Amino acid sequence: MTQVPDFTLNNGVTIPALGFGVFQTPPEQTIAAVETALSTGYRHIDTAAAYGNEREVGEALRRSGVDREQVFVETKVWITDYGYEETLHAFTKSAGKLGLDRIDLLILHQALPDEFDLTIRAYKALETLLGDGKVRAIGVSNFMPQHLIRLLEATSVVPAVNQIEVHPYFRQSDVLAVDSEHGVLNQAWSPIGGITFYRDSGHTSTLEDPVITGIAAAHDRTPAQVMLRWHLQQGRQVIPKSVTPSRIAENFAVFDFALTADELAAIDALDTGKRGGPEPERITRENFALNIPEA
Ligand code: NDP
Repeated sequence: MTQVPDFTLNNGVTIPALGFGVFQTPPEQTIAAVETALSTGYRHIDTAAAYGNEREVGEALRRSGVDREQVFVETKVWITDYGYEETLHAFTKSAGKLGLDRIDLLILHQALPDEFDLTIRAYKALETLLGDGKVRAIGVSNFMPQHLIRLLEATSVVPAVNQIEVHPYFRQSDVLAVDSEHGVLNQAWSPIGGITFYRDSGHTSTLEDPVITGIAAAHDRTPAQVMLRWHLQQGRQVIPKSVTPSRIAENFAVFDFALTADELAAIDALDTGKRGGPEPERITRENFALNIPEA
């Protein structure tokens, strides 16, 4: 089976360079998708309290027969569970649904720019969970440089990761640079540009981009594989999502070819500067209200 290289987080914990995402995977399809991923060789699953499928991720883990210690499980606390006590309880909810005593990586799903004190209290709960050994690493998602700096000023554990939108049409190179400067690993969400084709993004799909399809043809690979290589060769961890077994396999088969420096630069040049996901500065608990049920 393919050996996936690891990245080492800033606290020494290792994470596979390529994981499996389950955003928008309906609960009734999650067990099959995650079981397929695990049997293909994926050893990192990225879910979130807000995805409503943590229970099924846990069930797939148990059914797969893969040793729990071999799988890196990441989940996210939703903003309606921010606050010190609330976020400690959010861990209990997620761990209960996953059926795990310990979560490998627990991250804040978004910053709340208008309620940053609450964001800090939520992060302090993550620090407590880390100190208590309930989680092996903690981090953030969708944090812009100004959010990261404010967090670093008020807390003591540097986030292990920042999970942000990165694909050829939206590279966020300023965010990538600030994260790297502080030892925060960049995790690319929508790594093959999913958000450019499952949401109206005002431009064509990354999968049909002529630069990407041209590079794919030159290597006898697919556009998705080329984009995943682009991230990996630039030091980003990736979490492609699919419910389709052939694509789950395709996205995993990216460790036996390499792009040239010119090809990487050609993909870099596709950046449109146009965000697909919600604007991080405008996330509020009112706009994105979601009740996360008990385990
Ligand atoms: P991806 O870039 O992973 O694209 C997923 C889409 O691409 C799906 O429609 C999937 O379809 C399709 N697809 C997958 N593989 C291929 C392939 N080889 N060829 C053609 N089409 C393919 O986007 P996501 O937005 O899902 O991002 C990945 C993960 O990142 C999420 O699942 C989640 O874990 C995380 N994420 C985090 C966010 C955050 O705010 N922190 C926001 C968004 C995502 P199908 O499933 O039908 O095969």
